Amino acid sequence: MSKILCVIDGMTDQSFRVNNYLNLSSMRLLRHIDTTQGQTPESLGCILRLLGTKKVPLHLRGYAEALGYGIHVNKNDLIFRGSWFSLDEQGRCNIPTPAPESIAEGEGYYYHLEQYKSLLVFPNMANCVADIVTYPPYACNGKDARTLCPKRCIAASRVFQSQLAENRCLILWGQSAPAKIAPFSQRAAVICGTPIVKGIAKLLNMDLIPLSGATGDIDTDLLEKMQATLNAAKNYPFVLLHINGADEAAHRKNPNEKTAFLRKVDMVVINSLLQSEHDIYVVSDHGTDPITGQHIGSRQPLFKNVSAKPI
Ligand SMILES: [Zn+2]
Repeated sequence: MSKILCVIDGMTDQSFRVNNYLNLSSMRLLRHIDTTQGQTPESLGCILRLLGTKKVPLHLRGYAEALGYGIHVNKNDLIFRGSWFSLDEQGRCNIPTPAPESIAEGEGYYYHLEQYKSLLVFPNMANCVADIVTYPPYACNGKDARTLCPKRCIAASRVFQSQLAENRCLILWGQSAPAKIAPFSQRAAVICGTPIVKGIAKLLNMDLIPLSGATGDIDTDLLEKMQATLNAAKNYPFVLLHINGADEAAHRKNPNEKTAFLRKVDMVVINSLLQSEHDIYVVSDHGTDPITGQHIGSRQPLFKNVSAKPI
């Protein structure tokens, strides 16, 4: 019998009611978990804490992202996540907008990822990572884009300014440098489509199970993920299943899309997991508000199947 931890990214919000989900509501509410521990509510730190990492390095985001995408970085490189946002008529940050394939070359390297995401690598600048001030996109909603320029890193400021347009901007954030953290405590498999979680798997020495239909959004192949999870549970004592679509729907400020996806997860994934003999845990890394599009740092409910013994 294995332990399966199903992390539903951004599941909760003010209007989240467990009773709306048939299978989830049949589970037992074990407790509420402080996944942020005083830090900003974002998936990397919250998921690492759920997996038992005691001290999450402050400047890890961009590096974990590079690992997840298989982008090679050197130990002295400075790495940023870049998120493209549309601006409203007053020049305020609105919703994510597709990332361009390339931008004019500056001092660093620009990597187009998917959707609104990009990565920027500045060689040999890792030593200034602790001084830099940036504004993560989950805290940028409604803010004047001109106030969101990175501070104390001239190379990053130049990129921000060069990309600031009337209708869109490039938010540089998640400044980081390569770091090591203690591996996960047991043999573990990871089922996910989201690169940041692939990065977590590599950081913690967990085995990534290849999938063909995982997109990291609401169009992901939930059936494939569910089957891959149950298959992995035959060979691994611990399986992390990460499902990202609800967080993305909430970032798009689409409450109906978020709820519909959660219902699908409940029917396709949780229903099947609960019919297995494994210990099933369901939790969210943080909340995501589908009205504001922002993450919420509240304590997260941890659900456990009723048939197995409590931890
Ligand atoms: Zn998010």
